[in-house]
Amino acid sequence: MKAFAYVNPANEKEAVAALKTDGIAMVLGGGQDLLARMKDYIDSPDRIVNVKGLDATVTATPDGGLKIGSAVTIVDLAEHAQVAAMYPAISAAAIEVGTPQIRNQGTVGGNVNQRPRCWYFRNEEFVCYKKGGSRCFAVNGENQYHAIFGNDGPSHIVHPSSLAVPFVAYGARFRVLGPNGEREVAAADYFTMPTLQNVLKENVLDDEEILTHVILPAPGNVKHGHYEVRYKQSHDWPLAFSTVVLAMNGNTIRSARVVLGAVAPLPWRSRPAEEALAGKPLNEATAALAGEAAVSEAKPMSGNVYKMQIAKTAVKRAIMRAAGLKTV
Ligand SMILES: Cc1cc2nc3c(=O)[nH]c(=O)nc-3n(C[C@H](O)[C@H](O)[C@H](O)COP(=O)(O)OP(=O)(O)OC[C@H]3O[C@@H](n4cnc5c(N)ncnc54)[C@H](O)[C@@H]3O)c2cc1C
Ligand code: SF4
Repeated sequence: MKAFAYVNPANEKEAVAALKTDGIAMVLGGGQDLLARMKDYIDSPDRIVNVKGLDATVTATPDGGLKIGSAVTIVDLAEHAQVAAMYPAISAAAIEVGTPQIRNQGTVGGNVNQRPRCWYFRNEEFVCYKKGGSRCFAVNGENQYHAIFGNDGPSHIVHPSSLAVPFVAYGARFRVLGPNGEREVAAADYFTMPTLQNVLKENVLDDEEILTHVILPAPGNVKHGHYEVRYKQSHDWPLAFSTVVLAMNGNTIRSARVVLGAVAPLPWRSRPAEEALAGKPLNEATAALAGEAAVSEAKPMSGNVYKMQIAKTAVKRAIMRAAGLKTV
């Protein structure tokens, strides 16, 4: 690993100031992704700015929502009583991340901003688009864990964050701090689809900006469900998963947010599934219809057609969980 300078800022302003350098500066949360990338020679920063000392609290907002500091660990998020009561899909997603060790060390900021798990990206020998190259090795290669939506390229990753999906489903806003001050971005607008111009990044953060908080609006009268499918139950990223947030009128679904994870370069909001749910009774038949609708516009790659069935089932079962129905 290349030698680097280590900065331990006292507050968020110092953290932002420390990112300004002639070399490459990178932000360190729990370090599980960044340090692994450095050990694999995917990234070689000159300076590391530790943000674990920033806000690690969950506080109530005046409008009845919650504000989550980016240094909150995944385990603290998973075990937070108010988060569980108000946003159970966030707790459900947090508790399924990796292993207890990963959840103890990983932070909300690091989880949301972690880089793709594509095996070509993680191997220094493969200089693909995301590393400044001019091809995607997954197109004609091993693409069984890659995207089934948003496959126009140039990259075909799936976004690796489990927390990002319920954050989008609950309509969260992300507070970002940079040299020009702070701004708030809707979680749904924070993550970006790859284009030739922005393929080196997965979100709207500039190099000298940090994510400081996730701000959740009051949930209102909603039902929530979250369902993940993995190869095996221990320490794997999901093959596909879904969070649904349903605004209810009695037992009728007034409107729905259906977001899928591990299927696209960003948390994938399924408008067809949302349309299939609006105005319908909340029951198993409606859940099955929405599952079908969710994959109606999928464009799988050569090796991942199987993910369509999994994505369909994840949506159906997330809705059944929201309805309080048994899923197996
Ligand atoms: C075996 C295994 C299984 C896993 N399974 C899952 C899973 O199921 N779901 C899932 O979501 N994850 C999973 N992970 C990934 C793990 O959850 C992430 O690596 C971890 O959450 C990253 O958090 P961190 O704080 O350690 O990040 P770091 O490594 O510190 O940071 C990750 C990236 O985010 C940037 N960053 C960190 N904080 C900020 C900030 N505040 N503002 C801007 N940028 C920031 C860093 O510069 C870095 O590029 C798994 C990991 C392993 C090893
Ligand atoms: S999917 Fe993206 S990260 Fe993977 S090889 Fe293709 S361009 Fe690189």
